[in-house]
Amino acid sequence: MDISELTLKQASELLADKKISALELTRAFLERIKKLNPSIHAFLFVAEEASLADAARADKLIADGEGFALTGIPFAVKDNILVKGMQATAGSKILENYIAPYDATVIKKLKESGPIMLGKTNLDEWGMGVSTENSAYGPTKNPYDLERVPGGSSGGSAAAVAASMALFALGTDTGGSSRQPASMCGVVGFKPTYGRASRYGLIALGSSLDQPGVLACTVEDAAIAFQAMAGADEWDSTSLPRPVPDYTKLLREDLKGIKVGVPKEYLAEGLHPEVKKIIEGAIVQFERLGALVESMSLPNAKYALAAYYVILPVEISANLSRYDGIRYGLSISGESLADVYYNSRSTGLGVEAKRRIMIGTYASSAGYYDAYYKKAKQAQALIRNDFKKAFEKYDLILTPTSPAPAFKFGEKTLDPLQAYLEDIFTVALNIAGVPGLVVPAGLTDGGLPVGLQIVGPHFSEEKLFAAGHAFEKALGLKLRPKL
Ligand code: GLN
Repeated sequence: MDISELTLKQASELLADKKISALELTRAFLERIKKLNPSIHAFLFVAEEASLADAARADKLIADGEGFALTGIPFAVKDNILVKGMQATAGSKILENYIAPYDATVIKKLKESGPIMLGKTNLDEWGMGVSTENSAYGPTKNPYDLERVPGGSSGGSAAAVAASMALFALGTDTGGSSRQPASMCGVVGFKPTYGRASRYGLIALGSSLDQPGVLACTVEDAAIAFQAMAGADEWDSTSLPRPVPDYTKLLREDLKGIKVGVPKEYLAEGLHPEVKKIIEGAIVQFERLGALVESMSLPNAKYALAAYYVILPVEISANLSRYDGIRYGLSISGESLADVYYNSRSTGLGVEAKRRIMIGTYASSAGYYDAYYKKAKQAQALIRNDFKKAFEKYDLILTPTSPAPAFKFGEKTLDPLQAYLEDIFTVALNIAGVPGLVVPAGLTDGGLPVGLQIVGPHFSEEKLFAAGHAFEKALGLKLRPKL
């Protein structure tokens, strides 16, 4: 069976019509992973036995007429999301032998509709990075060009979907980790509103910014997958009890009457010319579909990156203190308890994690708190207010996802600032808590994908999916890498 062109939606229909079985489909994906993963390195772990057992169960559900849209659909999970009984390394050496004792809520919810969990995907350690080069287990390659990064931190999930090694994948998104790799790998990437989905069972990076994300082949596929994950959770007090709309029923083919703002700060200097051209083309496409597009301003957007790289490290320095060599994972003995902490953390944590722990500890320490953390939180309030005001006038905002297409390995490893600048268009959404959807918008002359970022107000996921779907249909871009 050729699965290289298949979407979740198509597979779901084939399964429901009994034209294929979940077992056949799962075997085909496992075979493709065997063939491609050695060169792409998207998966850190393949759950061969468990996925075949899931597939047999899914076939029974379908035969009994109890299948859902996701029943029998093979998917992948970023390795910082807990799946009971499976590894969850978060890309770190310190959790190399850690086995998750419970399911994350998003996994628990997904399991109710019977998809097939194929395995765990690679990421930058703890989700810190833009390329998977910070993974303790080696980088993932971009399926469009094996000499280039897939983006990060959910680079493994994005590459797995792009290379048709899974029909969708879970990511996480604290500052762009589901959107930026989607843009670089030519797939759809989605980050919900903060509080729309549960964070319980996600290995915490920045708890006030983290959300689970989705990577998929099409907007409709992302909507189907997210539908099964969204909603409040008693184990996450920051998740909100609002009804989850039926996203797929609200998809649209036109954008008549939709008001769209394009922040002038986002199409400014420093943007790669080909990215600029593709995003401008996408904006024209929105107009053709009937949207009313206007240039506007988010005056405090310029503070987003600096605020993010203070707020996030402060949260990291607290969240990562639990990896002390006593409670979890790697433990290296020493003469005193302090030695155990020191030895375990200095061996188990990577360079970027250490850098951020130091920045965060410094920025939140007595004497510096007011100058850094408090200032960053004040900037956050301004940025939130920018979006609030903008959404009084506009339904949606369009921006690029990252300043340039996928870069080559090693290009940004020496200077961390160069890597942080990759996040310039994505972090403001996490800072403001608003949702974002990345949809492939074109290829550069060199054949590298570029994604458009669609932003909406809090809890406007259905608008994002509706607009993204209309745009994707009108553009008719059929992106698949040659592998
Ligand atoms: N590039 C961002 C960072 O390094 C991505 C964070 C994320 O979304 N997990 O912090």
